[in-house]
Amino acid sequence: MSDLSQQIRKGDGLIIVDLQWDFCPGGLLPVPDAHNTLPLLNKWIGRALAQNMPVYVSRDWHPKNHISFLERGGPWPPHCIQDTDGAQFHPDLLRDDKMVVVTKGTRFDKDQNSVFDETGFHQQLIHDGVRHLIIGGLALDGCVLQTVLDALHNGVQISVIQEGTRPMDAEAGRRAIERMAKEGAVII
Ligand SMILES: [Zn+2]
Repeated sequence: MSDLSQQIRKGDGLIIVDLQWDFCPGGLLPVPDAHNTLPLLNKWIGRALAQNMPVYVSRDWHPKNHISFLERGGPWPPHCIQDTDGAQFHPDLLRDDKMVVVTKGTRFDKDQNSVFDETGFHQQLIHDGVRHLIIGGLALDGCVLQTVLDALHNGVQISVIQEGTRPMDAEAGRRAIERMAKEGAVII
């Protein structure tokens, strides 16, 4: 990648999706190789903060016995349960007081894969003057894909840091990239 600072413009924002212990190798719902996104994502975070670009970090934050868990007939093993170690951000993720945390997955009646799904996130982007989001995080074929599609549906331009995300499933990851590009996302 060329100089990151040249790629940052007024109206840009950065969103890092669900870089939590449970989604990394050793966690309860690991995405293969997930931790290897951290060096590149930290570079993006550092540059964004240095240029006063809004930076958001989302987290999956489920109540115990969440409706998305297998025990309730959902698709996933229990993961990212509120206040557990596994729900914490990966310790190597660069953090700063200026970063805004977006919490999702808290609803009792449904899962929220997209960061836009009834979180008020779009309203916050409007408030912050963000018209173009740059996105990385986990998982490419899950929450990242759904967030990208929702951004486009809300009229927010979006660029995907391809080396800053990983899929649960390699083939689904390839399809996700294809679909996002077809829908209008820029793959960087
Ligand atoms: Zn979840």
